[in-house]
Amino acid sequence: MELTKNVIRPIINFICEALFPSQCTGCGKIGTFLCDTCRASIPPAEPSADKEVRAVWSYRHPTVHRIIWNLKYEGIRAVAPVCAEALYDMIAEDIAEESLVGSNEEMLVIPIPLSRARLKTRGYNHTEDIARALVTSFSDSNLVLATDILIKTRDTKPQMSLANKSERLRNLIDAFTVSHSSRIIGRTVILIDDVTTTGATIAEARKTLRAAGAREVKAYAVAH
Ligand SMILES: [Zn+2]
Repeated sequence: MELTKNVIRPIINFICEALFPSQCTGCGKIGTFLCDTCRASIPPAEPSADKEVRAVWSYRHPTVHRIIWNLKYEGIRAVAPVCAEALYDMIAEDIAEESLVGSNEEMLVIPIPLSRARLKTRGYNHTEDIARALVTSFSDSNLVLATDILIKTRDTKPQMSLANKSERLRNLIDAFTVSHSSRIIGRTVILIDDVTTTGATIAEARKTLRAAGAREVKAYAVAH
C-alpha cells in the first residue's frame, strides 16, 4: 500500500502527465486543470436555500460548469482533486472550529451515491472520486472515506431535469438507505455532493443518515 502510494503512483502520474498533459479548464494553460488566475476568478456560491449545506463555487460560472461536466460525463476523473481542493479549506475551517481535528473521533466522509444501474452505465461515481481526493488531502486527520454505508436504492430522474421543488422532493422519497448502520451510530458524517440546486438530494440523504443514528451530518457541495 505504502509502496503504491509513495513510489508507483508518482511514476504513473508522471507518465500520464507526459502523455496527456493537463490543461486549465478556464484558459487552456498547460500543466494544471485549473490555474491560479482562473481559480481566483470563480465567484463563491450564493448561499443555499438549505442553510445546512455549504457550497464553494457558483455553478453559474462557465469554468465550474465545465469542470463538473468533464468529471461527470467526459470521464476526466483526474479533475476530481481540483474539486476536492476547492472543498478542503471550507471543511478544514469547519472541523477545526469544532476542535475535531486531532481528536480521536473518526469522521466518515460519505459521497452521495449513484444507483447500481447508473454506476454500471457510468463506470464510476464522480462524487466518490471527489470524496476520495478530499480524504487523501486530509491525510493526517481522522477522516475516513465510507462508500458502503449510504446506498441509493433506485434510479431517480436527474434533479436538474425536474421543474419544481415538489417534483424534486417526490423524486427522492426513499431513494437512500443505510447499510452497516452500526458504523455511523453517534458519529459525525461529512456528506459530499458535486452540485446542489435546491438541496433536496442532500436533505434526503441527511435525513436517512440521521434516522440511522448519525449524530451530526455536515453537508458540502463543490458548486451551487
Ligand atoms: Zn486558467
